Amino acid sequence: MNYDVTVIGSGPGGYVAAIRSAQLGFKTALIEKYNTLGGTCLNVGCIPSKALLDSTEHFHNAETNFKEHGINITGVKPDLAQMIKRKGEVVEQTTQGIDFLMKKNKIDVLHGVGSFVDKNTIKVSGGKEQTITTDKVIIATGSKPSSLPFITIDKKRVITSTEALELKEIPKHLVVIGGGVIGLELGSVYARLGSKVSVVEYMDSIIPTMDVTLSRELKKVLGKIGFEFYLKHKVTEVKGTAKTVTVKAESPKGETIELKGDYCLVSVGRKPYTEGLGLDKVGITTDKAGRIEVNESLQTNLPNIYAIGDVIKGAMLAHKAEEEGVFVAETIAGQKPHIHYNLIPGVVYTWPEVAAVGYTEQQLKEQGRAFKTGSFPFRALGRARASMDIDGQVKVLADKETDEILGVHIIGARAADMIASAVTAMEYRASAEDVSRMSHAHPTYMEAVKEACLAATDNRALHM
Ligand code: FAD
Ligand code: NAD
Repeated sequence: MNYDVTVIGSGPGGYVAAIRSAQLGFKTALIEKYNTLGGTCLNVGCIPSKALLDSTEHFHNAETNFKEHGINITGVKPDLAQMIKRKGEVVEQTTQGIDFLMKKNKIDVLHGVGSFVDKNTIKVSGGKEQTITTDKVIIATGSKPSSLPFITIDKKRVITSTEALELKEIPKHLVVIGGGVIGLELGSVYARLGSKVSVVEYMDSIIPTMDVTLSRELKKVLGKIGFEFYLKHKVTEVKGTAKTVTVKAESPKGETIELKGDYCLVSVGRKPYTEGLGLDKVGITTDKAGRIEVNESLQTNLPNIYAIGDVIKGAMLAHKAEEEGVFVAETIAGQKPHIHYNLIPGVVYTWPEVAAVGYTEQQLKEQGRAFKTGSFPFRALGRARASMDIDGQVKVLADKETDEILGVHIIGARAADMIASAVTAMEYRASAEDVSRMSHAHPTYMEAVKEACLAATDNRALHM
């Protein structure tokens, strides 16, 4: 069979690239080595983690906040097996949705491992073995969890995010290595169910790539639900037995601490996945971190082969992979698409949620750019008090001269959804005053963005 476009990997990068290619009139194939489509995100990433985060947040509210709302229930107990069963059903429905989209767009789905025979020929092995020819190829093979050289991931006691989504019991003490997104999201799942969660982080803050205001506030809130943090600690040893784990780490003073738990989640980042692709057969180059090298058109060193998503440089985010999938399909069609990488938002789905877009305060200082700051606390919002979600704040950074918004950093209820309005404003290069003069419905959480913009414009927030 001959195709115009063949996509290898069916995660959010790959399946979206396939849909856009088909929309543009290309005869398209999608190769996936697993039985279900959707990649990391739909099967063992974004969707299942959010399903468990939502279930455990309901439990946490029932246990701690309902009484204050005037709802008296006794004997609230978590049923982890049911939570995991529901999560499985959500994943099944979502991945089946991708099957539907492939059929609707007349995309041929080939199950098996895709590997290069030459730059226009791909062998699909594992399932029904076949060889196809293709004009263009889009590599979207994603990433896998990374670890530390001295750690053995036994998948029973020393686990990655994939196993943490399928535990059979609530850990008594979960030791998390890495205070990034996965550690804090999955740590939250179990902390809400009653686990003690100890996070060992190498840097001096949690979520270290985000604005320092957000990491400080998040650390404080997570402390209230059973997290303890060991910042600036270097893990030196991890040992698992049949029922326990022992993690040793070196403190900033050079002392060794020892944490004994029943599970250890290793969440120190992810690495690009290219095994079995046969990149060497065609001479596609990778960088030191193993990422496929691409130019500004996301083209590899072979002009008919493109790469997108977690397997190339940049943030490892589903929506970044999706944008790149659309970008490449449109580039192949001769269009001139554009991705504004600085405006790809980052979200942490803890509660409160954390969301940000644009530059952080630290980045602007490093650039030597003059900026002004406007902040507004959630506790000053009527909406937040009505729902008892008063933790958090919005921080807006704007250019000192022009007032253009350069960064928006939110920690608080519904931050994940609120950040989209900041992306819209920044895409149109709005000033803080532009946003502060737009009507925001009352009472809403979004009023905090308007107030923070007022504060940034001229220190004239109305409700503070
Ligand atoms: P992937 O989704 O990794 O898909 C790659 C696919 O390629 C896989 O299905 C793989 O089987 C297949 N493949 C690999 N090699 C071959 C081959 N040779 N032949 C055939 N098939 C092959 N991001 C967010 O934006 N929001 C979130 O809330 C979020 N939550 C996450 C939670 C967790 C626990 C994890 C682990 C990740 C999360 N992410 C989240 C990150 C997100 O999952 C990734 O950024 C995203 O999946 C990357 O998409 P991709 O298409 O590049 O690759
Ligand atoms: P991460 O990069 O978010 O966090 C890893 C953390 O581990 C960092 O804080 C880092 O400083 C720390 N670390 C590294 N080496 C260490 C060591 N030796 N000892 C102690 N700490 C160490 O990575 P992650 O949490 O594993 O997530 C992987 C990827 O998946 C991320 O790039 C993220 O974008 C993506 N993801 C996104 C979401 C989301 O968008 N909500 C959710 C989950 C995962």
